[in-house]
Amino acid sequence: MTTIQFDAAFAVIDQLQAAGYDAVIVGGAVRDTLLGLPVHDVDVATSALPEETKRVFKKTVDIGIEHGTILVLDAGEPIEVTTFRTEGEYADHRRPDKVDFVTNLAEDLKRRDFTINAMALRSKQEIVDLFGGKADLAAKIVRAVGNPEERFREDALRMLRAVRFSAKLHFEVEANTLAAIKTCASDLQYIAIERIKSEFDQIVRSQHPYKAFQLLVDTGLATYLPGTFQQIDKLQQFHTTHTLTGWAMFSYLEQDEALITKYRGANKEKQFIKQVLAAIEALKRPLDARTLFNFDEDVWQAAVHIYNHVSGETIDIDVLRRRKAALPIQHKGEIVVTGKHLLQWRGQKGGPWLAEALDALLTLIVSGQLENDEQQIKGWFNDEWQR
Ligand code: ATP
Ligand code: MG
Repeated sequence: MTTIQFDAAFAVIDQLQAAGYDAVIVGGAVRDTLLGLPVHDVDVATSALPEETKRVFKKTVDIGIEHGTILVLDAGEPIEVTTFRTEGEYADHRRPDKVDFVTNLAEDLKRRDFTINAMALRSKQEIVDLFGGKADLAAKIVRAVGNPEERFREDALRMLRAVRFSAKLHFEVEANTLAAIKTCASDLQYIAIERIKSEFDQIVRSQHPYKAFQLLVDTGLATYLPGTFQQIDKLQQFHTTHTLTGWAMFSYLEQDEALITKYRGANKEKQFIKQVLAAIEALKRPLDARTLFNFDEDVWQAAVHIYNHVSGETIDIDVLRRRKAALPIQHKGEIVVTGKHLLQWRGQKGGPWLAEALDALLTLIVSGQLENDEQQIKGWFNDEWQR
């Protein structure tokens, strides 16, 4: 526990405690530290109300005042400080918009989803563990805090979160928690697809995506998610840390290049995946220069990763990268001749012929059959293309 983030968080905690408030590190940071995993966000929770927190520090930013979150900038690293809260009334199986602030840490921990996520650190020495989170970490178990069925009825996304943590940490879902997911699975239909997408982003780049997909199918959650989940056995041993490579693999197995749109993915994400799937198809045949040129390096990287996994072949991405880097040009814009030249040389107005000519020109230059030189290109255009 020596990260800068932790030092900053404890500095913030010290100041809140000195001002008479309770303050702790909560959630994922506690879990990941106990597991010896790298920690990205260190969140602080406090009994101080948002306005009180703002008075304790010199530099703060309101980032979610309605949820009680203040960003404290005094400690070097920005630290999110959230007032202890319970979540009022649950309607429609979704997390409520309204929160009630409380002064008692136990109340705040009780509304958290899983025992492993419901621990707090009051100082480097004092851990608050009211629900056996430490024991569950040791036993590698994802267990709901309180009555699992009630907790999933309150917020159905928690079921997907259970799957996510299981896949990330290689934990088993505790028997009653698992049974409750099976019982409540259909409630997933009430959850906004954006929240589902955000969990899926983490599932597809998790350490054990196969485990997650198996759980989704076994619990019945898959029924309420876009996708057929029929080819998931091919996910065995597959792993990537790159989110869109994970989505591309899922899309490849589904044979659905638009899968991510069903999860409201951004257009950019959809375009990337579409290209990866096309590049995978291209890898099934000998690669020519033009095809190599067509896709960017990150597309090739994702495609090779997936292709090697499903085919058992061992295409070397570095060899491919070097071949691509050795092409005469890397971008269309490097061609010294443009459509304007062709129009002028031909003395005719544009039409489908123009795009065809430019495309033929690109293939010749990329493959080294024609030099990227205006006179050479003009010669080719007049003597060969126009005939
Ligand atoms: P990660 O490292 O993947 O971000 P995390 O545990 O920090 O994991 P977050 O989604 O960032 O997960 O949530 C932070 C904490 O807030 C969780 O550890 C948990 O205590 C609580 N939490 C988040 N979402 C819910 C929810 N839907 N229901 C109950 N508690 C939740
Ligand atoms: Mg987090």
